[in-house]
Order: sequence, then structure tokens, then C-alpha cells
Amino acid sequence: MSTLYHLAAAQMLLYGAMWACAWVIVGDERRAVQHWLGFTLLLAAGLGLISLRPDGNPWLTVVLANWALVVAVVLFWRGGALFLRLPPRDAEMALLLLAIGTLVVWLGPQPRQGFWLHPGFVCAGAIGWLLLANARRSHAALKMQFGERTAWVVSATLSALALLQVVRAVQGLTSSTPVPMHQTHAANVALVFAMLVSSAVLNMVYLFLMVLRLLRRLTHLVDHDALTGLLNRRSIERALVRAWVGWRRSGRTFAVVSIDLDHFKQVNDRWGHPAGDEVLRACAELLQRGVRQVDQVGRVGGEEFLILLLDSDEAQAMATAERLRSQLACTDIRTHGALLRVTCSMGVAVADAGDAEPDQMVQRSDAALYQAKHDGRDRVVSGALVATIPVPAASPTER
Ligand code: GH3
Ligand code: MG
Ligand code: MG
Repeated sequence: MSTLYHLAAAQMLLYGAMWACAWVIVGDERRAVQHWLGFTLLLAAGLGLISLRPDGNPWLTVVLANWALVVAVVLFWRGGALFLRLPPRDAEMALLLLAIGTLVVWLGPQPRQGFWLHPGFVCAGAIGWLLLANARRSHAALKMQFGERTAWVVSATLSALALLQVVRAVQGLTSSTPVPMHQTHAANVALVFAMLVSSAVLNMVYLFLMVLRLLRRLTHLVDHDALTGLLNRRSIERALVRAWVGWRRSGRTFAVVSIDLDHFKQVNDRWGHPAGDEVLRACAELLQRGVRQVDQVGRVGGEEFLILLLDSDEAQAMATAERLRSQLACTDIRTHGALLRVTCSMGVAVADAGDAEPDQMVQRSDAALYQAKHDGRDRVVSGALVATIPVPAASPTER
């Protein structure tokens, strides 16, 4: 048996090294990773101590070893709670650790005459309960953040291991001749193998989820504008191409709205750049809140935005643009100690069978926007009423 415990301890040390690398190299989700590192090291320590039985000091190989396993499982729970943004329930966990610690010290390593409680089985019961509670508490959060399949893999692994621990605890506490952990016995071998498999699954799943979250964050950074949180130019242009392809295939029309804030330079000049940033954020929020979920809003320049209105014809797009324009015009924007109002000019263009590519739509909405500026700003102009401004040819030096 002791070889098996050595093997299990070595496996935990490997996972510990993996979490240490994740901590140092990836540097993401640091607090959760620290807890998982503690979890693997404590498991390795507990299993290492158990492997010294029956010769080692029983206070270490029985009492301390079992308590270390309970602390390890608490650390695993806490790491998961931090990672999934769940309340860590510190008071409950501290109380449990204190109660179990006191009980196992009071019981001591040797089975008492006529007394059926033994530290190993008390701790197995506590671990079983902790794992089941962990499975139940993290399931909904895992499902919401990473999907149903991931949640089931984690819950099923935790529950299976918990059941084995509970069975071991019940068997140990009720049997007149309980099997000590160092004895070569089918139940002990099964438990160690279950631990090897489940810890492999849990460590790998959480490492994978950490990397997945990192990738999601990076993708979000790549696709979104840092100041306003709207889609950036690249993403809104990609969305435009998708809408264009969809329209060509299904015939469901869509519109683009080009937006430029009026005299925005004056906001910066008068109130400062940070106030200008606040105004940009407020405008972005107003635009985003003012459209449906299927529509998409992007920041394509300093104080320039582009909106994609799906399933919208000319009249619907003009009505939406007009509503957004008037909302902005009568909104007080609170910035650094001042209430500001800004207006914007808009140009609207609807998908047209004559356009050879999506860019032509944007050229028409831009042309309508320039017309709106020219006509006095704070207005919406339809691209249907404006001749497209030809794109200036590149100068020889630009070529
Ligand atoms: P118009 O009505 O003709 O559009 O006038 P305008 O002042 O809005 O246009 P102009 O192009 O002259 O000025 C745009 C200003 O937007 C200039 C620039 O300082 C400001 N700007 C661009 N990006 C940012 C930004 O990220 N933050 C802030 N605060 N200002 C920005
Ligand atoms: Mg501009
Ligand atoms: Mg402007």
C-alpha cells in the first residue's frame, strides 16, 4: 500500500508544480491558483505521512495526516469559490476545521477501547460532506460560466469521490474490525485509485477553465474598445460583413448608422480630456442601451460610432436614429463636477442591391453624416437623399 500512497503523493506534487507554473507564468486568477497549489501540496503531505504507517509516529501519520487531507479539501473548495466568484463561507469552514481538528486530537491516533470513533473515519466523513457540498454549491456557477457539460463533469467527479469517502467513513465507524489505511485491502486500493483519477480530472478541468477564461478575456480585449466597451472598428466591420452576407442570402434588409459627436473638441478644450472620456463613455452607453440586442454598436474613431440595425428598412432605421439623436440631445451627462450636454449628427444607409460590397453602404452613411454636419449638425440624414462622396484617390506618396 505504501507504494501506492507514494505514487499518489508524487502525482499531487506534479499538480503542485503545474499550479506553481500557472501562478508564476500565467499570473491569472492568482488567489484561486494559490489555493489549488496549497490543496495539492497538502494532499501530497497527507498521503506522504500515511505512507509512513505503521512505523512512523502515529500522531503524524494518523492524526496530522488525516487533518491535512481535510484542510486540503477546504482549500480546494475555497480556490473554486474564488475562481467562480462564489462566497467562500470562511466562518463555516473555519468552524469545521476547528471542530474536526479538536476531535481528532482528542481521539488520538490509537483506537480507544470500546469507543468506535477513529480520526481516519471522522476525517473521511468530513471530506465526503465537504466534497458533496462543494459539488452542490459550484454546480450552478460552473453551468452559468462554462456550460452544463463542464458543470456535470466537476459535480460527478466530486460526488463520486465524496460517496467513496462516506462509504469508508460509515464502514469504518460501524464495523467492529475497521480496515486501517495502510493495510492492503481492496477498499483502500479502490480509494487511492479513485483519488488518482478524480484529482487528475479536477486539476485538469480547473486548469483548462482558467486558460479558457484567460482566452475569453483576451478575445474580449481584442474585439472591444477599451474606453467605452463597445465593439472596436475591426469587430464592427466583421459584423457588417456578416450582416451583408446574411442579407445577400436571405434578403432580410439591414441598415448602418454613422454617428459623429458635434463640436466634441470643444468639450475637451473646455473641460479637459478626462471629461471628454466620460462623455464618450456616457454616449456609448446611451447608444448601446437604445438599440435591440440583435443590433450592434461600435466605436470606429475618436468620437465616431457605427451602428448595425438588423432587419431594419429605411423608415425603421431613420426612426431609431432619430430617437437616439433626440435622447442624446436631452441627456445631462455628469462629468468631473459638471453637467454637460452634447449633440450628434447621423447618417443612415440601408443595404442596396446596387452595392457591390459592404463598404459602399458605409460610404453612403458617411456621406449622409457629412451632409448632416453641413446642414447644421444635431440631425439625421438619409443616405438615399445624398450622392455618395467619392473616395479620394491615394496620393503618390501614400501608394
Ligand atoms: P465636428 O462637429 O465637426 O465633428 O467637430 P468635432 O470637434 O467633434 O470634430 P474634430 O474632428 O475637430 O474633433 C474631434 C475631437 O475628438 C478631437 C479629439 O481630441 C477628440 N477625441 C478623439 N478621441 C478621443 C478620446 O478618446 N478621448 C477624448 N477625450 N477625446 C477624443
Ligand atoms: Mg469626427
Ligand atoms: Mg465630431
